[in-house]
Amino acid sequence: MKDPSCPFCRIVAKDQPAEVVLDRDQVLAFRDRNPVAPVHVLVVPKEHLPSLEAVAERHAPLLGGLVEAVNDVAQAEGIAGAFRLVSNVGAEAGQSVRHLHLHLLGGRRMSWPPG
Ligand code: 5GP
Ligand code: ZN
Repeated sequence: MKDPSCPFCRIVAKDQPAEVVLDRDQVLAFRDRNPVAPVHVLVVPKEHLPSLEAVAERHAPLLGGLVEAVNDVAQAEGIAGAFRLVSNVGAEAGQSVRHLHLHLLGGRRMSWPPG
């Protein structure tokens, strides 16, 4: 495991339980333990990257796979065409887990701007 102190690395390694909704070669999606919408799924790369700021050109296939997973989960969860995708970068923006993750949110009306 890349980082045993990282909760999402532990979930990827199956060392910590999570409600997994999609499991692919490079990508895992599981329900947020503290959902803020009827559908709240975290889509993460299995590789430990601290945030979007760590993404470089070489990660293009990985990012494509993440977004494809988002679309597949949205379809499966019945929120295709009506969801929000969020990735917080840094504590000031609300990031609490330093393992890149996309919040897939849906199932209720969203307001803008976000808090
Ligand atoms: P962030 O605040 O970093 O953008 O989002 C982290 C998200 O991960 C939060 O919404 C939080 O509820 C969720 N979370 C943190 N630890 C765990 C965990 O161990 N399991 C699951 N399923 N979700 C977690
Ligand atoms: Zn990690």
